[in-house]
Amino acid sequence: MSSVTEIFGCDVFNDEVMKARLPEETYKALKKTIKENKRLDINMANIIATAMKDWAVEKGATHFTHWFQPLTGVTAEKHDGFITPAADGKVIMEFSGKELVKGESDASSFPSGGLRATFEARGYTVWDSTSYAFVKDGTLCIPTAFCSYGGEALDKKTPLLRSMDAIRTEAKRIVKLFGNENIKNIFTTVGPEQEYFLIDKEMYNRRPDLIFCGRTLMGARPPKGQEMDDHYYGVIRPRVSAFMKELDTELWKLGILAKTKHNEAAPAQHEMAPIFTTSNIAADHNQLTMEVMKKIAEKHGLICILHEKPFAGVNGSGKHNNWALSTDTGVNLLDPGQTPEDNAQFLLFLTAVIKAVDLNQDLLRLSVASAGNDHRLGANEAPPAIISMFLGDDLTEVLDSIESGKPFIKHEAGVMKFGARALPAIPKDNTDRNRTSPFAFTGNKFEFRMLGSTLSISDPNTVLNTIVADVLAEFADRLEATDDFVNEVNTIIKETYREHKRIIFNGDGYSAAWELEAKERGLLNLRSTVDAVVHWIDTKNIELFERHKVLNRVELQCRLDIALENYCKTIHIEALTLIDMVSKNIIPAISRYINDLSVCVVNKKAAFGEIDCEVEQKIIAKLNTYLKEIYTLVRKLEKSVAAADSMHGLEEAKAYNRSVNALMGELRKPIDAAELITAKDYWPFPDYSDLLFTI
Ligand code: ADP
Ligand code: MG
Repeated sequence: MSSVTEIFGCDVFNDEVMKARLPEETYKALKKTIKENKRLDINMANIIATAMKDWAVEKGATHFTHWFQPLTGVTAEKHDGFITPAADGKVIMEFSGKELVKGESDASSFPSGGLRATFEARGYTVWDSTSYAFVKDGTLCIPTAFCSYGGEALDKKTPLLRSMDAIRTEAKRIVKLFGNENIKNIFTTVGPEQEYFLIDKEMYNRRPDLIFCGRTLMGARPPKGQEMDDHYYGVIRPRVSAFMKELDTELWKLGILAKTKHNEAAPAQHEMAPIFTTSNIAADHNQLTMEVMKKIAEKHGLICILHEKPFAGVNGSGKHNNWALSTDTGVNLLDPGQTPEDNAQFLLFLTAVIKAVDLNQDLLRLSVASAGNDHRLGANEAPPAIISMFLGDDLTEVLDSIESGKPFIKHEAGVMKFGARALPAIPKDNTDRNRTSPFAFTGNKFEFRMLGSTLSISDPNTVLNTIVADVLAEFADRLEATDDFVNEVNTIIKETYREHKRIIFNGDGYSAAWELEAKERGLLNLRSTVDAVVHWIDTKNIELFERHKVLNRVELQCRLDIALENYCKTIHIEALTLIDMVSKNIIPAISRYINDLSVCVVNKKAAFGEIDCEVEQKIIAKLNTYLKEIYTLVRKLEKSVAAADSMHGLEEAKAYNRSVNALMGELRKPIDAAELITAKDYWPFPDYSDLLFTI
């Protein structure tokens, strides 16, 4: 095998390749357009397209695609061949600048929330030249944004790019005021940690719920769950290790900085974390990572499950969104440096984030809302549905002392003091990690932990960038207007902290006490997707997004419509799958077992006369009770699906949430109870032990 340095990025049309293959002036001009966010001129596009095509053809590519992220949250691609007819019945391989820069597609089946009437179904895709093209499965993939003819965003990339522009503009105003004139560009960086499950393909193929819904809708607890904590960071089994090795290699080829891999808390659960990069590239890479994970798993006879809650009773999967702000001069604006209490610029950015989070709890919450993630948030394993921030004791003390005007007394040069002197000094922020906090400061970045594992990271980052940009804009307005800069900085930090410190909570986010306290503090607790997504179109939020030209009223309405539609469809499919499994498999299986036990009773009596059949009879009685409950609940579920189905919009989503979803949970109980007392060879589906402990 070639070395990592050789294979890294070998399938990417990256800077090195561009430099080598483009005429010098084209290369320079392209770099300039990328840096300054300008439009590409068509002559230049033609030269780049040809170079790209030649490179891709050498890599075995025959097709190209505009690779984009519609509002479904997964990536979409339509492949077009490079072939063009030539004289004497032959073909040549061609790719024009026009095809590179802009594509048209009759993508009428992508959700648009009514943005495009079907008679105007065409949308178009535009090359995002800040994200490199790459070759995948014989196709040259060009990362693109997807818009309607009116220019409205029909995808997740467009608003993300717009939000990066917004925060760039406002953050630049701030750093300039601090005398950093040489900074030309500021960009947000993201490192998303990705959790996933791996299960055996054979087992998976026998579970319609996993096939249709990505999660199990039934399944009794196995004798062992995750209580021993022996899987977390445990030795990686050979089959999983082989998968991880191939995954690393394939990701590296695509220029994805796969860095960390380990076993996670639940049995069969794992994690991959890349090195962070610019937000929009991180978003593209995360989409690719999920796709590659699924593909590689199948090659190893495995299935990669990305659902937020595939198995009840053990942890679900999330995605930690590590977020910071970097300058083109290599400075992380969220890095406190050696003396946090002296670093006014850092504290200003920090308080901007505090204010942004406090004012926009609704937006952060809704940006991670999905039917799948509803199973995690608030279920005492992921952060709760309440947004709060963890700063750690040191930073909180610094801010407290600024607020009270008292001098900050450091424990010992910002270092955690241990009882024993012999222990080495450890910077506190890196060790005092609060795992229950939804939004934690982790030394030089914020870790937003509420994202679900299947989610595109684009929405939460669009929200994060926009809300922080908004506060930075307000700070910049004040600072640009003042005669006493130093004093005004201090006043802003002090005031902001005083007004928004209710969002800071360094304690246990899982505790019931916190839920009560949060309520007293006036923090939001939006429990379900339906409760959360309606806030897309609150006046405050429309004004915020329009102020920074990230999303307009129509685009926001469309996001709400699609969120509700997706929610209803997901629960609808889950309910139908459950009804199907119960009617066609579970009820017949239990009846068959009851029948065989009854035959056993009859035969025993025939053979031995009056004999004790208590065990069989007790099991029969119990199973019969469950059977009746199952039957009653499944009929109820059918009725509630029909009722929900006849409704529309928010009303329909509420019905799916409160009635259909709730009934599915009810129905699961007698099924799981029956599973525990039914002989294994009668049970029609692989059980949790088979699914979680056989690799
Ligand atoms: P942990 O599991 O303790 O949170 P990991 O090492 O698994 O830590 O993940 C940390 C993640 O944070 C990595 O993806 C890393 O690249 C990312 N990260 C580190 N610094 C930054 C930064 N400045 N901006 C964005 N992400 C960052
Ligand atoms: Mg983490």
